[in-house]
Amino acid sequence: MPTIGSKFTDIGRKAMLLGSGELGKEVAIELQRLGVEVIACDRYIGAPAMQVADSNYVLNMLDAKELRAVVEKVKPDHIIPEVEAIATPELVALEKEGYNVTPTAKATYLTMNREGIRRLAAEELGIPTSPYRFASTREEFEKAIEEIGMPCVVKPVMSSSGHGQSVVRTEADIDFSWNEAQTAGRAGAGKVIVEGFVDFDYEITLLTVRHSAGTAYCEPVGHIQVDGDYRESWQPQPMAPVAIEKAKEYAKKVTDALGGYGIFGVELFIKGDDVIFSEVSPRPHDTGMVTMISQDMSEFALHARAVLGLPVPGIRFYGPSASRAIVVEGDTKKVEMSNLAEVLSEPGVQIRIFGKPEVKGHRRMGVILATADTLEEARAKAKRAHDALKIAIR
Ligand code: AMP
Repeated sequence: MPTIGSKFTDIGRKAMLLGSGELGKEVAIELQRLGVEVIACDRYIGAPAMQVADSNYVLNMLDAKELRAVVEKVKPDHIIPEVEAIATPELVALEKEGYNVTPTAKATYLTMNREGIRRLAAEELGIPTSPYRFASTREEFEKAIEEIGMPCVVKPVMSSSGHGQSVVRTEADIDFSWNEAQTAGRAGAGKVIVEGFVDFDYEITLLTVRHSAGTAYCEPVGHIQVDGDYRESWQPQPMAPVAIEKAKEYAKKVTDALGGYGIFGVELFIKGDDVIFSEVSPRPHDTGMVTMISQDMSEFALHARAVLGLPVPGIRFYGPSASRAIVVEGDTKKVEMSNLAEVLSEPGVQIRIFGKPEVKGHRRMGVILATADTLEEARAKAKRAHDALKIAIR
């Protein structure tokens, strides 16, 4: 049976977060609640999770040597990745040496690269996906578009949150799309995936938790993305019984293949009764922030519990809920949120401000959460609160 001993002693447990954003901050808080020592890592000082951790390290997590040096110094009981941009082959090596990587090093390695997870889901597990091709050169790119047909979606294989992503609708878009994918991806120029455009009715994240006593699912999270970045999510997304059954089946297959303990955000497109797998995060998902208000255990609490090897016998869902991302644009270290009395004037509304030290371009700086008797009212309430929020750049 797992034990949790006194913090800062030889029987305590240490969890090292690789990535210290707003999702990591919530995981850190949940680990703290369970008496675990939290060590937060990121590429800059003052990141959200660092503000609630016991200690922190600033490093380039894509640099294998730097990553290993910090891990060997801290000797964590759990290495918990919060972002994709990590030297994942080094995590594979560390796991072989006995370190415990959440959920598994293989999961972080496969999901860092769109090719790894797509081939696993479609080719090994036989789960329906959009048609796809990979291309490394301009010539292969044009051939891929020809084979998939237009419209199609182009993404760097090393990217997330819509970076470098575009839709090719006509031949005139091909140049732009190639250049965009070559300059805006995480790793600079490189391979792209060309996917058939799925004209879905709606898309969901099925939060799936693998824990010591089995697998549990949250109510489906519906969401709206703008330029590949989440702006609004809600729970429960109404679904036909056959669609939710398929969604759970595919989520189970893919999370079983990735293995380990923790929460996974399984992203699915739904069209009629058809369910199409898009991708999976082996960690909390941004659209899942709605669970901070909708459930007894948020996705972060579920993650912490599962990672520690503890069971999740059930998840109590409180009722219709919604979230709205607070995205700020500008170039500043001083952001001021105001009109908060009006934002918080209705019962069932909460705001979380992440405490990020600066904005360059656009950045998610907080989230509005709302709960109500119906889904429509929860979404409308979150929108009213979001509309009331005033943001000034100082
Ligand atoms: P991703 O980074 O792959 O999660 O893509 C971000 C968002 O772009 C998704 O949540 C969808 O809204 C949209 N998207 C991605 N791939 C496709 C596709 N093949 N067809 C239609 N929309 C897509």
